Amino acid sequence: MSNKKSVPVVNKHGLSRTIPTEVKRTVRRQDGYGCVICGKMLVDYEHIDPLFCDALEHHPDHIALLCSEHHDEVTRRILPKRIVKESKANPYCKKRGFANSSYFPHPEDIKIKCGNSYFEDTKKIIEINGKPIIWIEEEEGRVLFNAVFYDSEGNKIGYLNRNTFFALVGNCDVYAVASRIEARLKQGTINLTLDIKADGIVELKRLSSNYGGTKVIIDNKGRIEIDNHGSKITMDSCQIFNCGGALSIGEIPKYKGDFFALSKFQKEKLKGNLPKIVDFFGTAKGYIFYSEIIDLHGLTSGYFKESKVYNLLGEYIGDLVKAESEDLFTIETDSDEYEDREPIYIEKRNRIANRVFRKKIMDTSYRILN
Ligand SMILES: [Zn+2]
Repeated sequence: MSNKKSVPVVNKHGLSRTIPTEVKRTVRRQDGYGCVICGKMLVDYEHIDPLFCDALEHHPDHIALLCSEHHDEVTRRILPKRIVKESKANPYCKKRGFANSSYFPHPEDIKIKCGNSYFEDTKKIIEINGKPIIWIEEEEGRVLFNAVFYDSEGNKIGYLNRNTFFALVGNCDVYAVASRIEARLKQGTINLTLDIKADGIVELKRLSSNYGGTKVIIDNKGRIEIDNHGSKITMDSCQIFNCGGALSIGEIPKYKGDFFALSKFQKEKLKGNLPKIVDFFGTAKGYIFYSEIIDLHGLTSGYFKESKVYNLLGEYIGDLVKAESEDLFTIETDSDEYEDREPIYIEKRNRIANRVFRKKIMDTSYRILN
């Protein structure tokens, strides 16, 4: 009895159509995890030179990642192989630093599943050390999912930026299969499994991430384990509804610097003369002391170089912008994403307040001053 399903497809040289896993991994790394032409993450592995029918082996140098659209164009001979070869030598994703994949969730079903726990109508899902890393936005009736993913060594893997997934071209092997995205730092370790189906449920199935020393793990049983510098909590089958901010772990990194070491009298005297940092409503949030950003309690929580503000982990937070009349400064960005496409969490009020008056409109001081 023959088994029709598993008849091996081979070419005239007896080469199987199945490309070995290791070869695929090398192709992904060479091509930057997306279509060599347009950067989309849902790809086919296409023999370019020679074509599969003439190929003697599966060699990564002769295989390119192509999205279904560009694969189809090659098959129909609209897109010349020459251009695919040129793009293989200089892939789109490597030029711009990321691959991407878009989603179209249903606006009425705002649901995030992390392991076996559900978050419904919850805007901020997880915040670590003062930085929201998973959150939901709504814009003109559309639901926008956002997340910043780190691997277990603290490097960024990629972002979900308003429903588009961006895989950073780095150390992680990232690939998309149908609605699922997986990222692995080393063979055998899963750093991220994300599934976004058309019905609007974003499912974070597996995670092994580390941001500033705080680890968030979603294990193979669906439990969420949080390890904040040794203090651990585990969440199993939780259901969280209608909550402004769900899980907030750790605090904004700060330390007792030179300002803190001053006497109470000196501090009080200095505070009156130091330039102030305010939010968009004029509320005092901290001070500038030499090149340091000081919070209201005198702790150092960041620094700046050439008007660019960084937190203690060295992450760029925003620009230091001087108000016109007084010795007041704000910390702002002119976009809701950073240059590498990392989405920035912005409270609605901080987004709208200055839209009318100024070009720069996002207050990001919440990241270092609370
Ligand atoms: Zn493409």
